[in-house]
Amino acid sequence: MLKQTIKNFVERLFSTPRRGPERLAQEKHGIDRRNVSRHAIKVCEVLHEHGYVAYIVGGAVRDLIVGLEPKDFDVATNATPNQIRPLFRRARIIGKRFQLVHVVFGQEIIETSTFRAPASVEQDTDEHGRILRDNLFGSHEEDAARRDFTLNALYYDPITEVVIDYHRGVPDLKKRVVRMIGDPETRYREDPVRMLRALRFAAKLNATIDPASYEPITRMAPLIENVPSSRLFDEILKLLTCGHAMDCLRQLQSVGLHEGVLPLIDLIFKEEGGENFVDLALARTDARVRAGKTISPSFLFAALLWTLVNKRWQQYCAGGEHPAQALMQAADSVVEEQTRKLAIQRRYQADMREIWFMQARFERANPKTIWRMLEQPRFRAAVDFLQLRAEAHEVDSVQAQWWMDLANADDSTRAEMIETYQTESRGKAPAARRRRNPRRRPSQQTNTPPQ
Ligand code: ATP
Ligand code: MG
Repeated sequence: MLKQTIKNFVERLFSTPRRGPERLAQEKHGIDRRNVSRHAIKVCEVLHEHGYVAYIVGGAVRDLIVGLEPKDFDVATNATPNQIRPLFRRARIIGKRFQLVHVVFGQEIIETSTFRAPASVEQDTDEHGRILRDNLFGSHEEDAARRDFTLNALYYDPITEVVIDYHRGVPDLKKRVVRMIGDPETRYREDPVRMLRALRFAAKLNATIDPASYEPITRMAPLIENVPSSRLFDEILKLLTCGHAMDCLRQLQSVGLHEGVLPLIDLIFKEEGGENFVDLALARTDARVRAGKTISPSFLFAALLWTLVNKRWQQYCAGGEHPAQALMQAADSVVEEQTRKLAIQRRYQADMREIWFMQARFERANPKTIWRMLEQPRFRAAVDFLQLRAEAHEVDSVQAQWWMDLANADDSTRAEMIETYQTESRGKAPAARRRRNPRRRPSQQTNTPPQ
């Protein structure tokens, strides 16, 4: 414990820059102010007018410098939450562990936090050195030292258009190097989630991880098991929706981090066709992310777990179980096993089951049940899922297309399609009829996946 404390102290001493921070003018960092959220600018302006300093910080600055569109804009300031809140019409203080302010402008929320103090020696840590509670405000410099990677510790002043860089983050960003601020081992110990973040930023920015920051990860991977599962879920979701999901999964596996968060990766990749299915699902997710579309976590996790569910489903069916019943049992057992490590929230679990159960219903539909299926809120997602299975050659692609056409059709076309189904099917899959009926809708109309 004492050794750790001394190490922390020495580390802090060296991580504090000896000379002041770099101040980079617009032509050095290249941020185009027109790409900056006007609400984030507004928050900074109001805080300035009241005598505080305020900067746009973190991921937004990083992404703007490399020409990516930021997901959201965060502001850091020397004003405390109680000083910030009254300055805005719609603002609320949130957070237990570390209070910050959400300033609300219609759909956009600007998360505004006070500069944080260093991870001090008095703070609460668990027996592994993980920080449990900290609530101290600090200076700008201290705030920079607490951030994870040099490229995440950049502060942009939208009024002067200057970027303040305490840890040479801009050169690292330009070289595409993810480098931990301070001693990597200590920082991973403080918060093991940083290991996942390192992999995510490397994949997202097409960067490498600095060797000193990379080396401890394999060794320290087991520490991830001490992180509360809700936090892990959030971070894994970010990882799967960063636009480079498959890359991230392979990296997770190669450093052994998956064992504590997504042990199913091993199982899936071992299954015949498993890797292919996940590959297809993640490629689709990546394409949506890059096109700026939304991602449904339930669809994503339904796809990730499907190979396991499907295998068990087939086994139970082979054992003589009714298909719908077998699918339900397969889903229950897989979800139960896999959520021991990764807490998938209940509402997502419910949607996942709906998507899965509908897969059995697609196979044995009749006109009455089709109408009922159409009313299900997850019908479109389930059809999309069926499409994914068709791509993986698990089901007939013509059949999957029929359902997609149905999902996209207006009510009268639906009635017609279901009517045809009734008169023609007589136990045959819609696929058989489609081949005889050349009146197919153009595929580009049917290719807008729901979510
Ligand atoms: P994204 O584009 O995914 O939102 P981000 O860098 O903005 O990436 P956030 O989780 O939104 O990531 O965090 C905002 C900033 O807060 C980070 O850029 C980093 O400076 C700091 N930060 C977040 N998580 C940690 C952490 N675990 N340890 C230290 N600093 C962190
Ligand atoms: Mg962010």
